[in-house]
Amino acid sequence: MELEHKDPEKSKQCCRSRQETIVVALGGNAILQPGQSGTFEEQMENVRKTAAQLAELILSGKRLVVTHGNGPQVGRIFQQQEIGAREGIPGMPLYVCGAMSQGQIGYMIQQALYNELLKAGCQKTVVTLICQSLVDPSSPAFENPTKPIGSFYSEAEAKKAMAEKGEAWKEDSGRGWRKVVPSPEPLACAEIAAIRSLIDEDVVVIISGGGGIPVIQDSSGTLSGIEAVIDKDLGAQMMARETGADVLLILTDVANVSIHYRTPEEKKLEQVSLDEMKAYYRQGHFRAGSMGPKVLAAIRFVESGGMRAVITSLENALAGAEGKIGTVIKR
Ligand code: ADP
Ligand code: MG
Repeated sequence: MELEHKDPEKSKQCCRSRQETIVVALGGNAILQPGQSGTFEEQMENVRKTAAQLAELILSGKRLVVTHGNGPQVGRIFQQQEIGAREGIPGMPLYVCGAMSQGQIGYMIQQALYNELLKAGCQKTVVTLICQSLVDPSSPAFENPTKPIGSFYSEAEAKKAMAEKGEAWKEDSGRGWRKVVPSPEPLACAEIAAIRSLIDEDVVVIISGGGGIPVIQDSSGTLSGIEAVIDKDLGAQMMARETGADVLLILTDVANVSIHYRTPEEKKLEQVSLDEMKAYYRQGHFRAGSMGPKVLAAIRFVESGGMRAVITSLENALAGAEGKIGTVIKR
């Protein structure tokens, strides 16, 4: 049985996207706002607003590949495993939690975007794919795990896990001990061929949630999950490169990237050349855990042949994609 077309004629007209392909990277605020507790209803409401922005891009004729962060969600799922394990329900490893978060967030975006397009008379298939991102086990990131995950524990519990499971744990500013995992670079996506065909078929693909599930490949080509997290903006950039996208659109909670951020000399960047942006990046204007990876992703995308990379706020999605607003990096 096929889903019923509400208005087949109107649907047909808008349904073939002919313009450029855009890889969108959604930030944390697209799914969860600061101060919210993270109920399903709250997240779905945010996702509906996000979907309205994404639908505008599609209705204007652009092909869309949607990627998103998963920090708070995967953190919660991981904690649920820890809590469940105390009740005798075996906990799943971090990379399985990553897959769960891709399914959870993907479901919300997939349904909200489908409904939003339908409202505008455009019936289009939206799918979420579980995405495995290949990482290099000999990357220096594995020698220095930096990303805390899960709950806080006592020093004794942390030392036990370090000795028995060979895990890395760190004391977190007097609040207790947390497990830390590496954040290696994503090199390639195992499902890329399927993604390219879906884009060609004009299907909207939600992919690379949380930068993808980190996997390694052995000499026979066999894949297996590894405990790590990937930066979602670098994951989006890899996806944009591998799909040959025209535009990388990074949507966050600020309209522009600034130099001299939060100082009296702060200056918002608008149209910036690749060389200028590389110079600012080297000068250290962008913080490591937040704006740094976005700017790096933008630089790399344009350097690898992308037409433009744009960093702006979610509300500016359409004008941003067209390079009219936000921080726009061009060759
Ligand atoms: P997201 O969750 O949307 O992917 P983050 O919250 O990690 O993104 O990063 C966006 C935040 O980065 C902004 O809210 C801003 O406070 C901060 N930020 C750090 N450095 C800069 C800068 N140089 N210019 C603009 N914003 C910056
Ligand atoms: Mg954020």
